[in-house]
Amino acid sequence: MTKSQSDPTKIALRFAPDVVFITEANGHIVFANDNTLLILGYTLPELIKMSVLDIVPPDWREIYAQRLAQVANDGKRHTIEIRLITKNAQKIPMELSVVMMPNGQLYGACRDISERKKTEAKLKELNKNLTALIETIPDPIFLKDGEGRWLLINEPAKKLFNLEAIDWYRKTDLELAELQPDFRPAYEGCVKDDLLAWKKGSLLVTEEYIPDQHGDMRTMEVLKMPTFEANGQRKGLVIIGRDITEHKRSQQRIHELAYFDPVTKLPNRRMLIEGIEHACSASVGSGLYGALLLLDLDHFKSFSSDRGDQLLREIARRLNEDLSEGYTLACVGGDEFVILMESLNSYVEHAAELAERHAKKLCTLVNLPFHCNGQTIRSTASIGITLLRGTQDSAEDLIKQAKVAVEQAKSAGRNAIHFFNPSIQSTLNARNALEHELRYSLEHQHFELYYQMQVDVHHRILGAEVLLRWNHPSKGLLAPGSFIDICEESGLIIPIGQWVLESACRQLKLWQKHPQLRDLPLSINVSAKQFHQVNFVSQIRRTLLESGAKPSQIKLELTESSMLENVEDTVAKMNELKLMGIRFSLDDFGTGHSSLLYLKRLPLDQIKIDQSFVRDISTDASDAVIVKAIISMSDAMGLNVIAEGVETAEQRNFLDDHGCHVFQGYLFGRPVPLQEFEALIPHSGGQ
Ligand code: C2E
Ligand code: MG
Ligand code: MG
Repeated sequence: MTKSQSDPTKIALRFAPDVVFITEANGHIVFANDNTLLILGYTLPELIKMSVLDIVPPDWREIYAQRLAQVANDGKRHTIEIRLITKNAQKIPMELSVVMMPNGQLYGACRDISERKKTEAKLKELNKNLTALIETIPDPIFLKDGEGRWLLINEPAKKLFNLEAIDWYRKTDLELAELQPDFRPAYEGCVKDDLLAWKKGSLLVTEEYIPDQHGDMRTMEVLKMPTFEANGQRKGLVIIGRDITEHKRSQQRIHELAYFDPVTKLPNRRMLIEGIEHACSASVGSGLYGALLLLDLDHFKSFSSDRGDQLLREIARRLNEDLSEGYTLACVGGDEFVILMESLNSYVEHAAELAERHAKKLCTLVNLPFHCNGQTIRSTASIGITLLRGTQDSAEDLIKQAKVAVEQAKSAGRNAIHFFNPSIQSTLNARNALEHELRYSLEHQHFELYYQMQVDVHHRILGAEVLLRWNHPSKGLLAPGSFIDICEESGLIIPIGQWVLESACRQLKLWQKHPQLRDLPLSINVSAKQFHQVNFVSQIRRTLLESGAKPSQIKLELTESSMLENVEDTVAKMNELKLMGIRFSLDDFGTGHSSLLYLKRLPLDQIKIDQSFVRDISTDASDAVIVKAIISMSDAMGLNVIAEGVETAEQRNFLDDHGCHVFQGYLFGRPVPLQEFEALIPHSGGQ
């Protein structure tokens, strides 16, 4: 056995499963293992005579020669893919690893990569086919890797995101958003939905909105399918989009045609019926009445169709602008508008009043002039109202009821409002008659002021509250309880309140001549509506100037609710009036929901304990506690306190014992006419 035959390294080389050969630096083969001989089909002596360049394809020889020279030069291991040619001219793809040995010879080991090459070729083909296939699909398609980097997108997708001139490959959505700010919201939407898809782990269908080249939003239905590695790691995301903008638009159009009036674009009868049904079932739970108002334009048929349509659109616009929350406006064909008012009140009369008030407002909106083709048109409307609560009447029935009512309004002479329900109608008729009488009485001076004294612990008269009385032509003297609400609702409280103010100031001026009366202050009740008028302060200033009354003798009584309606406005007005010398009393204290925090901000002088607490002060423990609390709170805030409705000595004593020393009530004196009041003042001469 020769030394080389027994050298284990040589033996290993000989039998190595790879193709192993050794060449001189110039490529001349000096050794080849058994596998080389087997694969290439040469004998060892044949190979020994050859150069390695003889067993590579001719077109590779030059490149290969260069690589060999490189190996010889840099001494590093080089791995290259080559093809070896067998004796019978077969080409075998190999991965060759060459390195220079210390003796200057080159050591080469080749591994057969035919299988790998075949798979690669197949994959390439598949990829080519897949890409071609994806390109034929008209919907945008995207492939992302597990980190959200874009790997593949087809032409429609490029168009959609305007990516033709952008290097998008392997970028994330957020990186692309940097490059395309217009698309930022769309990209951010994608990121959000991608996360959802990953979280879900299966197909996710979403809608995304992407701007087109005109900046209009297109709606895409997007399918996102996440794929995962065997170990659960994110592998990729296949995203397919479909532009459903047109589909959505046509759905919208179908919806509009089905549910909206073509001329006014308001909800039509069908949609209204759904709304009424919903309102009726909701009212079962809430117990609140709603109302259905049918507004019919008077003499509408006399307009040409073109002008009629313009008028309808204008009326629709006005009514729509005035619509509060919880109200629905519909156009139920021709010139009929319906307003559905939900959740008005649990008392039928109150609900009816609210509906009627709204109907009046609608009438004034319709009455406003309408300019059309250089002409001014004035129109009027008749309104029929029916109230709804519960589901006993169907929506159709309710519309019919409103129609019956509108017919009644029309036969009553048009430009009128009528209720379907006769008892409601008669209640409202009575109310309207009262309002009418109030207006008449205001014009004809049927109001009078009564004076009720305010006293200290020694019964000394400190001042008086003026209280309104109505000398009704047929019903006699009426206290405010029977008419003040109507004054408030109708707005009549403003002229009536002004009359009270002027009368009280005139009286103060007249008293200035009498030493016993000249310093008596008068408390005047002011309603919220009156106080919150924009020009309230200037009205007071003018009244004072015209009458010559002293502001220091005027105390305005405001209620908690009126003060809290608009705290900023209240504080500003009160401060202005205070500068003039006017004082303020907080009437009916304890009945509202005062926030102490707000009260602290109001420049008050006095707090008036409401008579409801005084009434049961000695029998109801909680009333006693409240009264004590009000007194100590007033003390703490540095305010005077007065109790109203004091009828018994027991009440007076309780109040006095607990720190309230000013009173008003029947125990001392009822509200009385001027002469009677003046007679009560010692030595006033009983004016
Ligand atoms: P108010 O301002 O709280 O007036 C006190 C009411 O209690 C008065 O009723 C008065 O007659 C009544 N009263 C006085 N002492 C007693 C008593 O010892 N026992 C009982 N049971 N009642 C007593 P009146 O005059 O009927 O006025 C009722 C309400 O009408 C007033 O309550 C005030 O809120 C309003 N009011 C009266 N006059 C005017 C006015 O000129 N303008 C405005 N806006 N409201 C007014
Ligand atoms: Mg009062
Ligand atoms: Mg009061």
